Amino acid sequence: MVSRVIPVDPFDLVIFGATGDLARRKILPGLFHRFAVGQMPEHARILGAARSDLDRATFRDLVGESLLEFVPQASGQKGLVNRFLEKLDYVRVDVTGTKGWPELAELMRPDVIRAFYLSVSPTLFGAIADNLNEHGIATPDSRIVVEKPFGHDLASAKALNADLLNGFAEHQIYRIDHYLGKETVQNLMALRFANSLWEPLWNSTHVDHVQITVAESLGVEGRGGYYDRSGAMRDMVQNHLMQLLCLTAMEPPSRLHPNAVRDEKVKVIEALEPVEPADIVRGQYRGKGAADGYRDHAGDPDSRTESFVAMKVNIGNWRWAGTPFYLRTGKKLRARASEIVVMFRDPPHMMFPKTEGLRGNALIIRLQPDEGITLRTTIKEPGPGGLRLAEVTLDMTFADALGPHAEAQDAYERLIMDVIRGDQTLFMRGDEVEAAWAWADPIIANWEDARQHPAPYDAGSSGPEDALMLMHRDGRRWREIEA
Ligand code: NAP
Repeated sequence: MVSRVIPVDPFDLVIFGATGDLARRKILPGLFHRFAVGQMPEHARILGAARSDLDRATFRDLVGESLLEFVPQASGQKGLVNRFLEKLDYVRVDVTGTKGWPELAELMRPDVIRAFYLSVSPTLFGAIADNLNEHGIATPDSRIVVEKPFGHDLASAKALNADLLNGFAEHQIYRIDHYLGKETVQNLMALRFANSLWEPLWNSTHVDHVQITVAESLGVEGRGGYYDRSGAMRDMVQNHLMQLLCLTAMEPPSRLHPNAVRDEKVKVIEALEPVEPADIVRGQYRGKGAADGYRDHAGDPDSRTESFVAMKVNIGNWRWAGTPFYLRTGKKLRARASEIVVMFRDPPHMMFPKTEGLRGNALIIRLQPDEGITLRTTIKEPGPGGLRLAEVTLDMTFADALGPHAEAQDAYERLIMDVIRGDQTLFMRGDEVEAAWAWADPIIANWEDARQHPAPYDAGSSGPEDALMLMHRDGRRWREIEA
């Protein structure tokens, strides 16, 4: 299979926070990859902006070092790296002040796409949006890109939306959820809406339940202070798991237009029923060794923040009434694995003798590691000796099915190129983010009122026992978390 790289139009991309962790680890390496494959046009430019006292040369040196650190092949591509670095410039600007903006305005070229990546704290979004407008740097066609976290509740998300909408229209705002940039997540849309096979089965008549798991093997080491103010519900469920749920559950959009897709996602969130406290399990990991538990990492011996959540969610609409979605995410679990499992119902009548160990038909959409899709089916066990049943998996692991060109692009690079192309399909719309917070807020408020400690679980396990019970009591079980 031949990979097709279509160059984007010339652009000036300004990265606010260009000296920070996200820019160095993800954004600039992602841009370098797109440059390396020829997607970046000759007249593309990347302007770093931050308070640090750097000039163009020292900024290029800094980015060069980041590429060597975060792009394994960069050390053998010195010429390519140098040509990429020539596209870089730097402006010193404290976004809360007045200095630096005229210099930035001066550097911007007319007649190319302007994009502004806000890789800074959300508290700075308003100041940046205001200054870009006051200094005539933003044009009606400019794009502004913002990172998670997009608020910590509905009120703060509304305030951020208001800050951005003060200077930009909704069609100019790109709210990143990097899960949407993953190859498999987009393939979920292709699988559902480019094949006639699934649609007749994609409803509560045929689907018993859906499991969405985002398991991480790492804990919160190093960022415990930040995480402790957030927790798994805010950090993962309200955004990433919600996006996966929406793409799995939404109605077929009428066309591949950003608003057509996002309208359908909003309808799913609005159809979510309130989650009963008995349908939620919160957990917090305890360490294997001394000073290795969540509370040690968070620096609070009495922390009530959850590093794990499992919940049963019902969608109150015709398609899904009677088919629960079980969501689960946590840190320090037994493996790093993210997947969506669509479990189909058992055949209405089984004429074969009962065979132990059969788990039924399941479509497994794996996001990490090894992005791919598998379908578990039941067949006759090969060979003589009577008719016994066995499971076989039809495997669409992309690397195997599509050859070397299936090498997954990092989600960031795909999303940044979408920004330049002006395609908002894989970005969250303001009302979508607000709807997700409106659903999450009462759940979090209940926890805060109850002031209970989350259930402890061992690092390296599958989470608290209660999370297993959440499924067992419904006669179901989680798929094992395995890498
Ligand atoms: P970081 O390492 O602390 O970097 C912050 C950047 O902002 C630095 O370049 C800093 O540079 C700049 N900055 C701070 N105050 C400024 C000001 N007043 N004017 C201009 N520049 C200013 O943070 P980060 O980890 O890169 O995260 C950036 C944003 O992305 C945050 O909102 C974070 O929540 C989000 N995010 C990060 C990650 C990640 O993996 N790191 C993942 C998802 C989302 P100077 O000090 O030189 O000004």
